[in-house]
Amino acid sequence: MRTVVIGGGPAGLISAYFSAISGDDVSLIEKNEKLGKKLYISGKGRCNVTNDCTEEEFLENVVSNPKFLMGAIYKFSPEKFMEFLSKKTPLKTERGNRVYPISDKASDITKCLESYLKEARVDVRLNETVLSVNQHEGQICSVTTDKEKIDCDKVIVCTGGASYPLTGSTGDGFKFAKMLGHSIVEPKPALCGINLKGDFYKQLQGISLKNVRLTAYRGQKQIFSDFGEMLFTHFGISGPIVLSASSYINRSNANDITLKLDLKPALSNEQLDARILRDFDKYKNKQVKNSLDDLLLKGLIPVIIKGAEVNGEIKNSEFKAENRKKLVDTIKGFTMKPSSLRDLNEAIVTAGGVSTKEINPKTMESKLVKGLYFAGEVLDVDALTGGFNITVAACTAYVAGNS
Ligand SMILES: Cc1cc2nc3c(=O)[nH]c(=O)nc-3n(C[C@H](O)[C@H](O)[C@H](O)COP(=O)(O)OP(=O)(O)OC[C@H]3O[C@@H](n4cnc5c(N)ncnc54)[C@H](O)[C@@H]3O)c2cc1C
Repeated sequence: MRTVVIGGGPAGLISAYFSAISGDDVSLIEKNEKLGKKLYISGKGRCNVTNDCTEEEFLENVVSNPKFLMGAIYKFSPEKFMEFLSKKTPLKTERGNRVYPISDKASDITKCLESYLKEARVDVRLNETVLSVNQHEGQICSVTTDKEKIDCDKVIVCTGGASYPLTGSTGDGFKFAKMLGHSIVEPKPALCGINLKGDFYKQLQGISLKNVRLTAYRGQKQIFSDFGEMLFTHFGISGPIVLSASSYINRSNANDITLKLDLKPALSNEQLDARILRDFDKYKNKQVKNSLDDLLLKGLIPVIIKGAEVNGEIKNSEFKAENRKKLVDTIKGFTMKPSSLRDLNEAIVTAGGVSTKEINPKTMESKLVKGLYFAGEVLDVDALTGGFNITVAACTAYVAGNS
């Protein structure tokens, strides 16, 4: 069997290896001058390669089409993936079960996968771009590159998504899939910052928050809620819980989304009110705006007072209970309206891609063209941060390579 793997990211490297050791004659074609360009910048250069969790926990972190992924993750679980990598690269597990190479060097993950390819005698071709994938009577027959035409029986498309295009992931796989009759779920940015309406956030730029809860509503319906860290930026908000929120709101019209920020999730409204009263007592005779320093970061106070529509200039002893309630409600549910998400170019992953409805989840083969397979981010599967996206690439690649 002559197999061509398109793309030298984690999906391409892993599918090429498993395809080769199961007896195929494999060529891997990568348009860049080196393999794993996106891997190299992953996890801030440290590569959070997987998450040391169970298959069930893994699937809870998959945002789009977790059911499609079920078979693949049980075949090549995080545990099996770690076992596979650690034969050549020692790994370590950090907070949140995030797994990294012990060296903290993403390049060691690429080196490890390259070493597997060498062992399996995969023919690796760099600086070569696939231009089209060709079929004859519903069966893959060749690929055309900028250098030659390669006859083959099987093609595994591992071209990634369309985010961070400088790494080589420019959405070519979507184009190939479409030409072969596949439906593409519109690519959208995921795991990215959120642009906000208004300009209040400019005043907050640079403020980082810890232990806060961010909740997203579509109309009245809650579609996301998480606890953790975030920050205000020149465009709106970013940081871990914001990235996660983006993956849940990216299919909605921004006008329908409301974000609520709970700055004191550990306190009930009553507890917070009692706390404010205690602080007012401590700062007797001070203005309200000068009585909240123990409770809130200084930069937040004017924005919260404005958001609550109360007068911060009056003495706290004159501040009525109804105004305190407004303050409490604002601290527990500061409202922000998104205007849009950040651009796909800056998104950590692409949501959308080749529709999973037309792919056999047991093999990753196209239901439309024989010998055509897909693996990795090119598929309409995306997950949260924590090492889940590289593992999506790995388990789909394992299945495609072994089929
Ligand atoms: C800044 C950043 C940090 C990230 N950090 C993490 C992390 O820590 N953990 C995690 O799990 N995920 C992380 N991700 C996401 C993760 O890197 C991707 O989901 C993963 O790389 C997808 O793997 P892939 O093999 O499907 O695609 P890619 O890694 O995108 O690889 C696709 C390859 O195909 C090649 N290609 C494309 N078209 C052609 C063509 N026509 N001919 C030849 N070659 C072609 C490209 O050049 C590219 O090398 C991060 C992403 C970014 C942008």
